[in-house]
Amino acid sequence: MTQIIALTNQKGGVGKTTTAVNLAASLAALDRRVLLVDLDPQGHATMGSGIDKHALEGSVLDLLLGEKSAPEVMLDCPTAGYSLLPGNGDLTAAEVELLDRAEGRERSLTEALGSVAGEYDVVLIDCPPSLNMLTVNALTAANGVLIPLQCEFYALEGLSALLDTVEQIKDSVNPELAIYGILRTMFDGRNSLTRDVSKQLRDYFGEALLKTTIPRNVRVAEAPSHGLPVTKYARFSRGSQAHRVLAKELIRRLSL
Ligand code: ADP
Ligand code: MG
Repeated sequence: MTQIIALTNQKGGVGKTTTAVNLAASLAALDRRVLLVDLDPQGHATMGSGIDKHALEGSVLDLLLGEKSAPEVMLDCPTAGYSLLPGNGDLTAAEVELLDRAEGRERSLTEALGSVAGEYDVVLIDCPPSLNMLTVNALTAANGVLIPLQCEFYALEGLSALLDTVEQIKDSVNPELAIYGILRTMFDGRNSLTRDVSKQLRDYFGEALLKTTIPRNVRVAEAPSHGLPVTKYARFSRGSQAHRVLAKELIRRLSL
């Protein structure tokens, strides 16, 4: 069965896009068929996949508005090993246009993915840093959410709003939506605040707190400027290895 996973956290800069790109590449390297969906108007997952967001012939916006089909918009990222539904600034229009719709507006992505998702083992959706209609579309289409966060003092504060949104989506359109994992990014286990926050996360989320942590690693930050996942840019770096371990942890957990 295809697993559709939304990478979400309304806080920016927590590692959603970095995780989306590098997890997509790591799963592909383990022979999983992967589709990455860039649902953020910033288009960073698109750029990080080596695709020029300014030169797109079609984007996820066209899908959401029903103006193009997924195969028409889909791009191949041969080096990274996955397929991409690219996004760019045009997506800011989606928010307005979807809100204008009377009904079904949260199901646009679900419908757009319907015909193609079955061809993949995993679909990863990189969400924008807000709980807007785009994120609602991702949560409606997803089987589960993966929440990247940094172990800092304010990390937990924003989580309750996100968890409330997940509950609302479960109560309304997607009763099976699960929390697939809390992922600690830019992790430094020597830091005592990191250990405190980790403990709080473990107490609250239990098994949903992923064992794998992604260390802060300069190669991870450099890779997007080369349009490559870190697993291709610097495959022996700590950041690259951590993403491969993450892919394996998710493969076991979710039977991917
Ligand atoms: P988000 O998508 O949640 O806004 P990003 O994935 O874009 O977050 O990451 C925010 C910034 O942090 C980016 O500049 C990215 O390169 C950097 N970054 C993310 N993860 C790491 C890491 N493990 N090590 C070093 N830098 C990282
Ligand atoms: Mg991002």
